[in-house]
Amino acid sequence: MNPTPLPEAHATAERRPVRRVVIAGGGTAGWMVAACISKVLGKALDIRLIESDEIGTVGVGEATIPTLLTFHQLLDINEQAFMAATGATFKLGIRFEGWRDVGEDYIHSFGMTGKDHWTAGFQHFWLQGRQRQLAGDYGDYCLELKAAEQNRFAHLPRAGMNYAFHLDASRYARFLRQFSEGYGVQRIEGKINTVHTDAATDHIRALRLDSGAEIEGDLFIDCTGMRGLLIGETLKVPYQDWSHWLHCDSAMAVQTHSVGEPVPYTRSMAHGAGWQWRIPLQHRVGNGLVYARKHLDDEPARALLLSRLEGEPLTAPRIIRFTPGQREQTWRGNCVAIGLSSGFLEPLESTSIHLIQRGVLRLMQLFPSDGISAADVAEYNRQTREEIEHIRDFIILHYKVTRRSDTPFWRTCQTQDVPPTLRHRIALFQETARVFRPGNELFAENSWIQVMLGQGITPERHHPVADLMSDAELSNFLGAIRHQVDRTVAQLPSHQAYLQRYCPAPAQ
Ligand code: FAD
Repeated sequence: MNPTPLPEAHATAERRPVRRVVIAGGGTAGWMVAACISKVLGKALDIRLIESDEIGTVGVGEATIPTLLTFHQLLDINEQAFMAATGATFKLGIRFEGWRDVGEDYIHSFGMTGKDHWTAGFQHFWLQGRQRQLAGDYGDYCLELKAAEQNRFAHLPRAGMNYAFHLDASRYARFLRQFSEGYGVQRIEGKINTVHTDAATDHIRALRLDSGAEIEGDLFIDCTGMRGLLIGETLKVPYQDWSHWLHCDSAMAVQTHSVGEPVPYTRSMAHGAGWQWRIPLQHRVGNGLVYARKHLDDEPARALLLSRLEGEPLTAPRIIRFTPGQREQTWRGNCVAIGLSSGFLEPLESTSIHLIQRGVLRLMQLFPSDGISAADVAEYNRQTREEIEHIRDFIILHYKVTRRSDTPFWRTCQTQDVPPTLRHRIALFQETARVFRPGNELFAENSWIQVMLGQGITPERHHPVADLMSDAELSNFLGAIRHQVDRTVAQLPSHQAYLQRYCPAPAQ
């Protein structure tokens, strides 16, 4: 019997051992990749990173999610040293202001809310409690959310508090550079002007710099930012454009002096044609306006941003254009795109640095030491696509489910079609209060529930198991959780006091 032929993509494997890794680009992506590969495989590889001071980095990307802790643990990065070096603060979630409707706020926190029963999540009991007027706000049952509201933070035993960081992006790149160089990464300053490919295999052979130097490699990581010099401009991997679902295509970023103590959450403040971020660091604040140019020109955007700043600007507002979407393949031949070169979703849920981390960890799991296998490439691309599509749906949710109809932008968002996967999840929650997390999806049930309730969905029904509790039982159950949350929060120090004790950033 003839064996089943492999699909073409699997049959054309190039089997050259990988010993020389070339990372093109030294932003957050380039240095995170360099840090991870050098720490794990540095002894077996020759790793070079090329970056151009003249071109610089995108200069934003300062809010993270809790998965970054795992990245640091894998790399044995000391949290206090990292936080002091990057002027970092703690982040317990994101405060969405004016998203459900003008003047209405909610927090999407990193914590768990209440306690689930195996048949039904906590939201079912909370909904029953609301009906019987026994329950407070949904957020009253979440430690991280209440701590954020009260501007408090501390590490708790047994990882009792879920958190992430706000960090200074350029200091983080510097920190990771020092780390990577310690594991043997060679940094090359220079501008890449030509990418040489091998006509027979379509693999990249070398990068030629303005200086005339040619940097050869076996595996190339494209971290050149949005232009995707290797994956897009050279290998012509198409970019899938999602702007029919996500209408914002511009951002204007500005750094300001701090006013007051840093809060332990990111602020996301909706405006008539998008939203604005405010990210507090120890030494300054990062701000930016995200907007749809179709609904707001650059000049009014600049005026709006400047009118909504708290502190004095430290930099001039800088425009960044983007197209929401994803490369059709993020690994093609011997080139893997990680970071903005691979795609970009607006920073509403601070997911880009997480996707860099996922990209490099996945690459480590599939590392082609003995030669590139087309099956590995296909698997890498499949996982990457699945992961970003989930995040895409979660971000669209914030725009689609809103009561805002005060501007053409919000009316467009409210009435637009959404991916079928998201349409199903919204309908399921709306009708039954149920949420299920498929596979390894980044955002768990509690994130979806917080945002769906926060954006204004009130489920029509809930699980009958919650109806079976008597008033006394339900009241005791809800009251005990709330009491525990309040008691713990009351014992926490202020965020600022904790930062000063734990990881003060030296003046730089
Ligand atoms: P870049 O920072 O653009 O780095 C590209 C590198 O390539 C630079 O070193 C550059 O010098 C080099 N390079 C380019 N061309 C050449 C060449 N020809 N020769 C040599 N070197 C070259 N992510 C989050 O997780 N949280 C956030 O809050 C967040 N906010 C964001 C806000 C905005 C407006 C935007 C646009 C993005 C945001 N992101 C956020 C995403 C985040 O900024 C990026 O994921 C992250 O900074 C990684 O960028 P990068 O390293 O891929 O690209």
